[in-house]
Amino acid sequence: MYPAPPETEHLVIIGNGMAGHRLVEALLKRPDRPARITVVGDEATAAYNRILLSPWLAGEMEREALILRKAEWYAEQGIELVLGERVTSIDRTARRLTTDAGRALDYQRLVLATGSRPAMPAVPGIELSGVHGFRDLDDAEALAGVAERGGRVVVIGGGLLGLEAAEGLRKRGEAACRQGTGSLAVSVLQRSAQLMNRQLDATAAGLLEAELTRRGLAIHTGAQLAAIEGDHHGRVTGVRLADGKRLAADGVVIATGITPNAELGREAGLATQRAIEVDGHLTTSDSAIHALGECCQFEGTTYGLVEPIWRQVEVLAEQLGANPAEGARYEERPSATRLKIGGISLFAFGPIDPDAGHEVLAYHDPVQGDYRRLLLRDGRLEGAVLYGDTAMGPWLFGQAQAGRDLGPCRRALLLGAADADALLDAHDLDTDFDTQDRPVKEAA
Ligand SMILES: Cc1cc2nc3c(=O)[nH]c(=O)nc-3n(C[C@H](O)[C@H](O)[C@H](O)COP(=O)(O)OP(=O)(O)OC[C@H]3O[C@@H](n4cnc5c(N)ncnc54)[C@H](O)[C@@H]3O)c2cc1C
Repeated sequence: MYPAPPETEHLVIIGNGMAGHRLVEALLKRPDRPARITVVGDEATAAYNRILLSPWLAGEMEREALILRKAEWYAEQGIELVLGERVTSIDRTARRLTTDAGRALDYQRLVLATGSRPAMPAVPGIELSGVHGFRDLDDAEALAGVAERGGRVVVIGGGLLGLEAAEGLRKRGEAACRQGTGSLAVSVLQRSAQLMNRQLDATAAGLLEAELTRRGLAIHTGAQLAAIEGDHHGRVTGVRLADGKRLAADGVVIATGITPNAELGREAGLATQRAIEVDGHLTTSDSAIHALGECCQFEGTTYGLVEPIWRQVEVLAEQLGANPAEGARYEERPSATRLKIGGISLFAFGPIDPDAGHEVLAYHDPVQGDYRRLLLRDGRLEGAVLYGDTAMGPWLFGQAQAGRDLGPCRRALLLGAADADALLDAHDLDTDFDTQDRPVKEAA
């Protein structure tokens, strides 16, 4: 079915992270894959599941469970894996790259899957010892050590990553304390007036804040970091806020966003803005070089979640085959957000603030800590925030993606997918289904 690839075709993938590894797995399913594949990654460990660093930090899983594939697996598949070496330059004319160990590799096709790194705010003291990011296994292990020693940690950033780091530290610190080490106090500084301001409305953010506070995190909203302070050994001693307040700290975790690792592509002369620009085939401005994942940028969008990256992998694997399908192009689609903190369920997508054209449906049970708010336009769902019982989240997301008219099941929309589906089916069959007789929780 597939024509054999040219004998000499050598594909090099830079980055053995989530995108680079998933691409390898996708290529292995294709008989028309390039004859020779080499993966170069600068981390010491073969690909692991970065997403699971949060539950690992919280002590909810074993380190072994993070590993996606062991280094031997690559050899068994006939793939050359170079670990612990950083690609430092790409010579596009010679089609050759060089690593920091002095290794030179020639390629016919090249994929940049270099991801991103924590964005470090430009404040005094950011270089002090005891200031951490939360990106890789080394960071997670350093944070586990901080939690186990006890003391005071300040997490800068009340978004997804900051909250997962803070709760992971708190849980690990609590477990260590039970074993007899010193106790750990964790604070979160959030610049905006609420937690997760890019995903949640004020009510859901309030519920989340109350729950995290109940667990023992000290949450400071409206708190702008001005400086990190240290002692004469260059170690962190505290943080100072823009309003002059000071919080003592033995450790600081920065979770204020990510910076794409685009420098390698930029220095090689590839078209780059915030990240390396790619087209719908994940091809850069050089037709022999592709990029995907958090180091790439498509139509102005950069990435921070895996769902769109998985779709990029499928398109790129097709492009790297000997006879790529014409129609396979990457397209932007909305993503849904979840938080990976044990015992807290939230699910959100779409716009947060309603505009004049939105109909707002909301249900709030403060006793159970359940909250659901939907934004509809002309009967079609555009956004949802669910906190507590989020079982309906994927169904709602599917309906929004499909652009389905939910008018016929409007009164059951906050109840459950089965109720809403039943109404939609009844409507589709054009039966005389009396929705008014069904018991519904009142939409507020
Ligand atoms: C703690 C944490 C929790 C997360 N949770 C979620 C979640 O719940 N849901 C979700 O969708 N997303 C989550 N993410 C984001 C998700 O992990 C990323 O979107 C994903 O890892 C991006 O994949 P990538 O391959 O582009 O980058 P990475 O996975 O970072 O891989 C890039 C790799 O390239 C290497 N590299 C960089 N430069 C070079 C070079 N010059 N030479 C050689 N190697 C190089 C890097 O060291 C790294 O190993 C989380 C991220 C973190 C840090």
